[in-house]
Amino acid sequence: MIEKEQDKDNIIIWIIELNMKTIGLIGGMSWNSSLEYYRIINETIKERLGELHSAKCILYSVDLAEIEHLQHEGKWKELAEVMIDAAQKLEKVNAEFVVICTNTMHKMADDIQNNINIPILHIVDAVAERILDMGLKKVGLLGTRFTMEGDFYKRMLKEKHDIETIIPDNDEREMIHDVIYTELCRGTIKRSSREMFKKTIKNLNANGAEGVILGCTEIPLLIKEKNVNIPLFDTAAIHARSAVEFALE
Ligand code: GLU
Repeated sequence: MIEKEQDKDNIIIWIIELNMKTIGLIGGMSWNSSLEYYRIINETIKERLGELHSAKCILYSVDLAEIEHLQHEGKWKELAEVMIDAAQKLEKVNAEFVVICTNTMHKMADDIQNNINIPILHIVDAVAERILDMGLKKVGLLGTRFTMEGDFYKRMLKEKHDIETIIPDNDEREMIHDVIYTELCRGTIKRSSREMFKKTIKNLNANGAEGVILGCTEIPLLIKEKNVNIPLFDTAAIHARSAVEFALE
């Protein structure tokens, strides 16, 4: 086919066929971390494919104020409907798989998966792969109260990946949850909060955690591995990179 074109018009036609899937992102939870997903996905595509390449992706961004209200009212059924609707919209416009850009909203991942025909790239699978790569068996988990106290995250780590999880004590959980919604999701970064997170991570380490999952996509905006002496698992970065791997598979 290429030969024929060359003969006819006497020009060389390069046909580059990249097998890149279109990523469907459900973002806005918060938009501060969705920006990180978008940046990391595109930077990783550039690393993998070269300078001018960028990701094929579609972002459906929700209003976090509505989501946060429903979460704190405990209206998980309504939240599942919002997420299913978002995922179906992405499927309709030809996204080939779904990336939910938040840990907390993976609480209803099974429900969402049952209502769409494209796969969800689960954040727990992505982070578990990294933890096992490093040979760790027991990790601390930081996130919203929903993520730390609910069992959807910890159970999947244990039952599917044989990774044990420990969480901070009640006061620390309250502080973390508060910082996430009143500071990080609003784009506010405070040194005093970083110090409190550092202390919590130290306590988890003292209680046997070999690494700590930053299981809220905003926490990596506050604290980085250089701030502590223990491996940290940045769920936003890990999930974003694994989306690229899946898109290029
Ligand atoms: N981005 C956060 C997470 O990863 C919290 C915001 C939300 O409630 O989705 O859990």
